Amino acid sequence: MTAAYAAQPELTRGRRFPEAAPAYRSEFQRDRDRVIHSKAFRRLEYKTQVFVNHEGDLYRTRLTHSLEVAQIARTVARSMGLNEDLTEAIALAHDLGHTPFGHAGQDELNVCMQAYGGFEHNLQSLRVVDCLEDSYAEFAGLNLTFETREGILKHCAVKHAQQLGEVGKRFLQKTQASLEAQLTNLADEIAYNNHDIEDGLRSGLISLEQMQQVPVFAQQYDLVLQKYPQLEGRSLVRETLRRLISTMVVDLIETSQAAIVASGVQTLEEVRQQAQPLIQYSAAMWVAKNELKRFLRENLYFHPTVYRMSWRAQRVVRELFQAYLQDSRLLPPKYQAFAKQYEQTAGEAGRARAIADYIAGMTDRYALKQYGELFDMDRVRL
Ligand code: MG
Repeated sequence: MTAAYAAQPELTRGRRFPEAAPAYRSEFQRDRDRVIHSKAFRRLEYKTQVFVNHEGDLYRTRLTHSLEVAQIARTVARSMGLNEDLTEAIALAHDLGHTPFGHAGQDELNVCMQAYGGFEHNLQSLRVVDCLEDSYAEFAGLNLTFETREGILKHCAVKHAQQLGEVGKRFLQKTQASLEAQLTNLADEIAYNNHDIEDGLRSGLISLEQMQQVPVFAQQYDLVLQKYPQLEGRSLVRETLRRLISTMVVDLIETSQAAIVASGVQTLEEVRQQAQPLIQYSAAMWVAKNELKRFLRENLYFHPTVYRMSWRAQRVVRELFQAYLQDSRLLPPKYQAFAKQYEQTAGEAGRARAIADYIAGMTDRYALKQYGELFDMDRVRL
């Protein structure tokens, strides 16, 4: 039994193309299953989270990141009586629109698309499930429920929201998404903050000494050392991070549960009408995780080694984009057809959108291969 304010599959606002209810699954289970069977989901294995794919087998990829988000989010959902299937569907789909090469790729594609409406990975994830997947005879995309689509669209600029119909309305009306969507958003943050510490330490770009400047980490680290004075190296790091994830998750569950009780919400409709999200950290954890994020930004994401890798990745994305824009015949036939089709309604911006769809769908290694082929640099590596 889920709570009265949880999303209920029987009460879904439905799919864009009406379908009969599934026989042995709930509507949200069906969404989750469609995401897992999608091409975009399989590509996540070869897309960079922070470290490029070929650097080592133990670093997170977008796929393992998405699985960790789903694990954390499901724990929170189950403990709070929320819908676990919807939560899982949102978590597994949340990064489907990510470009190759992590944030560097997305930022550069956004720069390339400036004159044509920009590029935003949340919007692109929605585009993947709404129109780019092509496995079904009866409709384009995965035809997911409103609730899953709403969860995928975490953020959205007003100018984009106006063109998205129902799913964009909450950004215009300043209402909230379901609790399942809210918690998945924060589970994403808990997952990447913690796994980026581990991957950063593994890479040697940040050190344990540096990490001890971050209070929320240092606190768990000291506790672990008090309890297990012999522990060292990777075991010490992992035991610390295991506890840090747990501390953040418990804080999130307890604070959110209290906020739900205090708000008096009884239904999903009332959840939507709240001025602020009800899924939240305590004030102290909010400050602590922001300190951690700032540390990671300054010391890891902008580390000279990562920065140089990002710079090269941006060049790959930029030059591919420019080449395709200059000559659409460089695109594979499927995207040439999209380029023509979108051009009829949106002119050059339409053609650029088809190119952005193509590049965003690329894995890291596929992008490098295309780059090598076009610019005669087959051994190019980041
Ligand atoms: Mg993510």
